[in-house]
Amino acid sequence: MTSITENFNFFKNKIKNYNCHLVAVSKTKPVELIQEAYNIGQRFFGENKVQELVSKAETLPKDIQWHLIGHLQSNKVKYIAPFVSLIHSIDSFKLLQEVNKQAQINNRIIDCLIQIYIAQEDTKFGLDVNEAKELLNNKEFAELKNIKIVGLMGMATNTNNIDQIRTEFKSLKSFFDELKLKIKLSNVDLKEISMGMSSDYEIALEEGSTLIRVGSSLFGST
Ligand SMILES: *Cc1c(COP(=O)(O)O)cnc(C)c1O
Repeated sequence: MTSITENFNFFKNKIKNYNCHLVAVSKTKPVELIQEAYNIGQRFFGENKVQELVSKAETLPKDIQWHLIGHLQSNKVKYIAPFVSLIHSIDSFKLLQEVNKQAQINNRIIDCLIQIYIAQEDTKFGLDVNEAKELLNNKEFAELKNIKIVGLMGMATNTNNIDQIRTEFKSLKSFFDELKLKIKLSNVDLKEISMGMSSDYEIALEEGSTLIRVGSSLFGST
């Protein structure tokens, strides 16, 4: 058994009692490793750069579900719009309008998550709670028929302080619950909470994550 197989089995086992999927973060990893993971049944892969995502998608099996997890520039949406399965990193209304426009051109509806800023760091992208509410309450939002907001994404502070990480994940979950109660729009169907990476996925699972995004613990850190 290769170590890739062992690593995937380890995570399969970790999440089996949760309502959660594993997004294998394959950024910087060669297509051979992704193919190996595919061969043992992995179908959700996450990339953070548009160009890398597009070129990997061209060579790898067509039933892979590609997730864009990194910051997305509006002028690059058109390259992933034909096939991307989920965009985790919506952080402005302008970006969402462009995703809607490109989805319409491709005659599809693109699932999106709003990235919420939960960390005590100023290096992370995302909207704060009020900005996210403004986006959803924007008069023009309801007219975006080619996107669907299916949940929220957040990244905790890069710290060893478990209590802090837990508090940040709890804040994302409670905002998710609040929106689920309040927002009744045809292009919003909240079901996913994307939180947790190699260093903090166990806390994220306990706090209600439905998508953990794991890279280095699956593929190694080189
Ligand atoms: C790289 C990355 C991950 C995975 O991080 P690991 O620590 O390698 O598990 C998760 N989410 C985002 C947004 C990333 O850029």
